[in-house]
Amino acid sequence: MASLLGNLFILAAPSGAGKSSLIKALLEKHANKSAQRVEVSVSHTTRKPRPGEVDGEHYHFVSRDQFEALIEQGVFFEWAEVFGNYYGTSRVTIEQTLHRGVDVFLDIDWQGAQQVKQQLPDACGIFILPPSLSVLEERLTRRGQDSDEVIASRMKQAVAEMSHFSEFDYVLVNDDFSIALHELEAIVCARRLRLQKQQLRHQPLLDELLGSA
Ligand code: GDP
Ligand code: ADP
Ligand code: 5GP
Repeated sequence: MASLLGNLFILAAPSGAGKSSLIKALLEKHANKSAQRVEVSVSHTTRKPRPGEVDGEHYHFVSRDQFEALIEQGVFFEWAEVFGNYYGTSRVTIEQTLHRGVDVFLDIDWQGAQQVKQQLPDACGIFILPPSLSVLEERLTRRGQDSDEVIASRMKQAVAEMSHFSEFDYVLVNDDFSIALHELEAIVCARRLRLQKQQLRHQPLLDELLGSA
């Protein structure tokens, strides 16, 4: 996957820190506006759908047996067990999207992030921290989509997830949402302007400007 035109972004954070909200806002802001397109990877999961979650849009919801069969078939670029459920990213989908020159966002946990970095060191890792543990708990509760028991278990896992922040290239604190969104956009923008991608993207322009020099 060395000369892929699109950029791969990995977003990780403890549950409730705001990954999904930030990705959604970024996609909405950039829909049809930017020359560089952005898509979010739709993972497979064995978790039950939350109210309002649509199969194929938020996740591909599958049974444990189906997921294990997909692992056997080598379908996943990365997969992990998080909060007692399997989650995984399909290899073909992201490879095809990156080949089309579209940037891809992965909303995955630290175990998945490590697997992606091993296979594609050029992927950009971004870790999102909440402003405090109490705010994190408040957001999980206010989101109103998980039971008290699930929230308690996610809070227990939060410190373990956050202890991996230093394995990422960038860290942002999602306190004021618009500032965090602005910071995320800055990371994406800088990443797109890196030499290697710009050389690939602007080859005709570089040929014209430099001629046979
Ligand atoms: P959220 O924390 O509210 O986004 O809850 P989810 O149930 O959507 O996600 C649970 C955990 O699974 C999070 O840590 C996600 O980052 C992680 N996750 C989601 N999709 C994937 C995936 O495809 N691969 C891996 N490795 N982790 C995933
Ligand atoms: P994650 O995908 O990381 O689990 P979400 O994006 O679902 O997190 O956010 C968890 C909850 O916190 C949601 O109800 C969301 O609206 C809210 N939220 C996200 N970012 C902020 C912020 N900066 N300030 C206040 N609330 C936020
Ligand atoms: P939720 O169940 O709240 O949707 O997600 C819980 C956690 O699973 C989140 O931290 C999310 O990032 C992670 N997650 C979602 N999809 C994947 C995936 O495909 N791979 C990995 N490794 N983690 C995922």
